Amino acid sequence: MNCVNHPDKPAVAVCADCGCGLCHECSHKYGIYICDRCVSARNSEINERESTRKREIVAREKRCVNAFFALLLVMGFYTINYINSLHLTLLNPADGGWFGAIVYAVFFPCLPWGWRTISDLTSKIHIKHTWFIGGPLLLFYWLYKAIFSIMIGPFVTPSKMKRALKIIRESKETNNF
Ligand SMILES: [Zn+2]
Ligand SMILES: [Zn+2]
Repeated sequence: MNCVNHPDKPAVAVCADCGCGLCHECSHKYGIYICDRCVSARNSEINERESTRKREIVAREKRCVNAFFALLLVMGFYTINYINSLHLTLLNPADGGWFGAIVYAVFFPCLPWGWRTISDLTSKIHIKHTWFIGGPLLLFYWLYKAIFSIMIGPFVTPSKMKRALKIIRESKETNNF
């Protein structure tokens, strides 16, 4: 067998992927025995996986941004109704109803970002939902996660949102789509 690139030279090795012959010079090109064609095939596979991963990250950020604005819209209308129904006025903030109004208008819409923060934290310490498998327990887990998400939401939203918008903007600039 001769080298795939140099038909006049004898092969001293074979490509790890396709098994074609490689001469002395060609066998030392990449650190492993592999031909040019298979190197570019491996590289394009890596690039493909990398851009898929990037697309998933951007899609995740977009989902969160969309959920935030959807909740903001819905809860905005709900809050206006709520305030009207309680006959609250800006001059009468002592009325306990204002606490509810703030929760509806500010804390609820930030839920997706709180949820994301908890998901990221729990994935780092390897807590999986499977720990809680058995329907009702899983529901409790989600319920408590939602409550915590609402509690921390407004505090994590500015930084998380800023980061998400940056990621989305960069993905548009590099034309990953
Ligand atoms: Zn090959
Ligand atoms: Zn060669």
